[in-house]
Amino acid sequence: MHFLNRIGLDLIFTREYLKAGVLVSLLSVWVLVGLFYYLNRYTRRRYFTIWTAAWLFYALWITLSFGVQGDREQPLLVMLEQWCVGVAAVFLLWGSASFHGQHIRSYLLGWFMAFLLFWSYVGAYYLSKPLEMQIPVFTLIAVASGVNAVSFLRYRRRHPYIGATLLMAGFFLWGAYMAGYPFLENDESLTSLALFISAALQLLLAVSMIILVLEEVRETHQAALAQVATGKAERAALQSKVLSTEERYRTLFDQASEAIVITATDDFRILELNQAAQRLLGITRAEADQHRLTAFCQMKTTSATPQTPLEWFHYLCEQRPLNLARKDGGLVPLEASGNEVEFDGRPAFQFFMAEVTERARLEQQLRQAEKLSALGQMISGVAHELNNPLAVVKGYLELILAHHDLPPQTRADLEKVAHESNRAAKLVMNFLSFAREQPAHRELVNLNDLVRRLVELRKFDLMVAKTELTLELEPELPRVSADPDQAQQLVVNLINNALQAMVDLSQPGRLKITTRSANDRVQLLVEDNGPGVPAHLVQKIFEPFFTTKEVGTGTGLGLSIAHSIMTEHKGRIYHQPSTLGGAGFVLEFPAADAPERETARETVSPVAKSIETPSRCAGHILVLDDEKSIAEMLSEMLGLLGYTTTVCHVPAQALQLIKGQEFDLIISDFRMPGLNGEQFFSLATKQKPELARRIIFLTGDVVNEETLKFLKSIGNPHLAKPFDLARVKTMVAEVLRSNAPLEECK
Ligand code: ADP
Repeated sequence: MHFLNRIGLDLIFTREYLKAGVLVSLLSVWVLVGLFYYLNRYTRRRYFTIWTAAWLFYALWITLSFGVQGDREQPLLVMLEQWCVGVAAVFLLWGSASFHGQHIRSYLLGWFMAFLLFWSYVGAYYLSKPLEMQIPVFTLIAVASGVNAVSFLRYRRRHPYIGATLLMAGFFLWGAYMAGYPFLENDESLTSLALFISAALQLLLAVSMIILVLEEVRETHQAALAQVATGKAERAALQSKVLSTEERYRTLFDQASEAIVITATDDFRILELNQAAQRLLGITRAEADQHRLTAFCQMKTTSATPQTPLEWFHYLCEQRPLNLARKDGGLVPLEASGNEVEFDGRPAFQFFMAEVTERARLEQQLRQAEKLSALGQMISGVAHELNNPLAVVKGYLELILAHHDLPPQTRADLEKVAHESNRAAKLVMNFLSFAREQPAHRELVNLNDLVRRLVELRKFDLMVAKTELTLELEPELPRVSADPDQAQQLVVNLINNALQAMVDLSQPGRLKITTRSANDRVQLLVEDNGPGVPAHLVQKIFEPFFTTKEVGTGTGLGLSIAHSIMTEHKGRIYHQPSTLGGAGFVLEFPAADAPERETARETVSPVAKSIETPSRCAGHILVLDDEKSIAEMLSEMLGLLGYTTTVCHVPAQALQLIKGQEFDLIISDFRMPGLNGEQFFSLATKQKPELARRIIFLTGDVVNEETLKFLKSIGNPHLAKPFDLARVKTMVAEVLRSNAPLEECK
């Protein structure tokens, strides 16, 4: 009784099953070979190929066994059969080595296979017992399977695949089976069972292999999926980064205050431009590619037109200023710089452009302010020194002219001298207003009235010059807060300039004065049909002492004074080509506030009265001035007017005189060495309070705010140098009249 039967397992097959067992094993091993071959086409691993070869040899062994069936009459077949199983063992071992990444030299394998052939030969031809031959060979294959089992055990540690576990178990069992095979084969009752077991083990190995490969594929697939997912996430992150960078760049590009234009390098076609550039050129982004940047350039007549793209590039970057003609025809001077960039994968030029108008204007203003300040100081000094002698000259001339008994020729000559000294006095006044030392007082002025009055005064001149005058005065023009004298001087200057400009005209001169208002600004425009101001001089004409007129005709101060007066009035003066064909000058004032407009009293600027023969008055007047000539001249004027005078040059002495004598009036200089006007006033009125309303101060060219405040506080009038007889007469008479009882003037 077989032990299997004894343990209750009826697995004993009779000899008739042997063929079926071999066939099943044969089929299953070929299935295994086929599967290994198939899988290897996809896995493409060296150890797999070697194992496929091992199974192939094993399948050959079984096939041969099927033919031989233990027939020892055919020793060649037996030898081959044995050799095949030996080679299968070698390949199995070789495959395991390769699985672990170890390299086995092929000549060693060759030698070993040759040895196996020899061994098989010996076994088939010389060994009588099959076991002697089989045991070493099957031991080898059992060891090889064991090695494979260990290989998969180790592999399992790194990759916990079910397939690897099954293969480990499969190879282990396979090794055990192979080790026992020679004995099973020789026990007839177990041979068939052994073959069925081998078929089952081979199928187990086949299924395990499939599972392993599937598991490996699944892992690779998952890794690939994870990689794709990470890749996707990274790509998305990158994309959003690119988008935000692009957006940042776009915002920077679009909102840059400088105009940026990107053009093609060959024909300067505009490829891209920012908002500042769109405003500058007057085109939109949509229509940009229909334009070439070079088409906007206004070439200078003095420079040659560039020919090549490179020449154009240098021209655009180096021209200072570069004049661009906007689409709407406006001309914009600017400074450009450029560089080469890549745009949409192609080389392009990028230009940065900054308008110079605003900068140039500010620079010009700064230069002007610096110049004016330096000049102002110098002129103020000169004018101050000139003022007193001029006052004396003018005064004496008036005194002489007041005598009736002058020979007619002398009178005519003196009148010419008086005329010239008046001009000189005006010039000094001009200098002083230029130096801004003249206190400007403000009143509400109606520019329409001012123009009408001036036109009335200049009627004769216009007629002589055969000039046709047009007035376009806006009715209900808002008034402006201005110094009426200065405003008048401005308009007179502009009319004089216009008349002078039209002197050499072949056609009749035309002068047009317009007033208009808009947006709280009031404008007065004086235009002529003269030759106009050449473009290159437009900036220069406002500079002090710039004149194109002959020596003696122009001082070059008119427009610069106008400029500083207008600045003082928070307005401006500018040139604009006239609609009549010549020059046009605009005076622009801020409109005065409405409430003030209602309440203020309109002022008509004083028109100098001509000197009449002085009438005789009476009264004792103390004249105090440290400048002897002025004091004496004033005393003479007062004498002529009929007053008695006492002249004094030192304030302290004057105070002594006041103590001892009665004076109806004191005319005192304000700026004196020792005591100034204010101190003199307080000491004098301390002695005699009744004198408070009877002191007239002589003010010089420079009246500072403090002095003005003091004069205003005492309420007495003051006499500005240089003064004329008429003014002295009126003022003295007025003060004396308002401080009666004194002898009245006639
Ligand atoms: P001036 O008249 O003494 O020369 P201005 O400052 O008034 O000084 O004028 C400066 C220059 O401006 C003049 O010399 C002249 O070249 C130019 N100018 C002023 N007004 C006119 C005008 N109406 N037409 C042409 N040129 C003018």
